[in-house]
Amino acid sequence: MNYRKLINIFSMTIVCSILIIACNKPAGSQGSSGHSPSPSNTKVFKWKLAQTWKTNVPIFGDVTKKFVKIVNIMSNGRLIIKIVPSNIHKAPLGIFDFVKSGRYEMGHSASYYWKGKNFNAIFFTTVPFGMIATEQYAWFYYGGGMELMEEFYSKYGLLSFPGGNTGNQMGGWFRKEIKTIEDFKNLKMRIPGFAGEVLTKVGAKTINIPPGELYQSLERGLIDALEWVGPSLDLQMGFHKIAPYYYTGWHEPATELQFLINKKAFDKLPPDLKEIVIIAMKSTAYDMLSQSMHESAINWEKIKTEYPNIKVKTFSKEIIARLKEENAKLLKERAAKDPFSKKIIEHQQAYMKKVRAWTKMSDYAYLKDN
Ligand code: CA
Repeated sequence: MNYRKLINIFSMTIVCSILIIACNKPAGSQGSSGHSPSPSNTKVFKWKLAQTWKTNVPIFGDVTKKFVKIVNIMSNGRLIIKIVPSNIHKAPLGIFDFVKSGRYEMGHSASYYWKGKNFNAIFFTTVPFGMIATEQYAWFYYGGGMELMEEFYSKYGLLSFPGGNTGNQMGGWFRKEIKTIEDFKNLKMRIPGFAGEVLTKVGAKTINIPPGELYQSLERGLIDALEWVGPSLDLQMGFHKIAPYYYTGWHEPATELQFLINKKAFDKLPPDLKEIVIIAMKSTAYDMLSQSMHESAINWEKIKTEYPNIKVKTFSKEIIARLKEENAKLLKERAAKDPFSKKIIEHQQAYMKKVRAWTKMSDYAYLKDN
């Protein structure tokens, strides 16, 4: 046996001995230091999370269920979060105020629901003709989007994080076919966010209605048309029974939901719990994009086999061109009105230009021939 082999055997014996000693430590030993847990490691935090959705809403409701489960397990029960759905708190569009006031430590909703509080909230959900989901996630996490969102929400004492993406949404359900731009005139439509502003410019009467009241509003004639999400969530709502024209999308290419956290509550958490919350939000948000893609694929197939009366349509090139024109005009007006709007719009547009060039060279170049 040569000298080098002897050294190797000696080193391995030491490593194995260390491992055996480590593995035989009594249960309850606290890590390698053997210190007792500090008070911040044993304190149990109890939070409440108010969400815009009812408990049983698939996908959106799954995000929060998965999130609280991950937090509970990873924190070893030191952060317990109770989900309070809209059927309990009765204010589906009131999440911003709930979390801002501290009545709830957390919320799950969509930023564009707060356009009445501050118009700029819209830009952190999606914008018509804007980025698709993969591009927007790149913008949020690496392209400066999170920093802009923090700048926006910090003045309200809030932290905001991506809360799940639906992917490209369908353009909505209509009772009648939309053949020309004139057909939008006086059309009462539920459509939130910037898209609602655009359709107002072409004569539609747009409103936002909480998800739980959509079907009734359409059935009672309070609205003539609506958009919700896409096949992943729309079919089970039954809209097709009343409004069979189902249009492809232009208005919400990458709708991102939102986790809101009261900053004071977050600051009270020890560093490990903060990190667990952040990781759990990021993981469940991105997971929603995969789930949405899956559910959309399954339900899109069902349209052909189980819902033959649904008439799938695409708005004409002329309609899309006009909507694009109105959208660009509105963005310009917005930027001229408010310096922070200008900052976000310019930031998003510059990023989109860069990232879209790559999307066209990669996914688009591949898909157009396959
Ligand atoms: Ca929508």
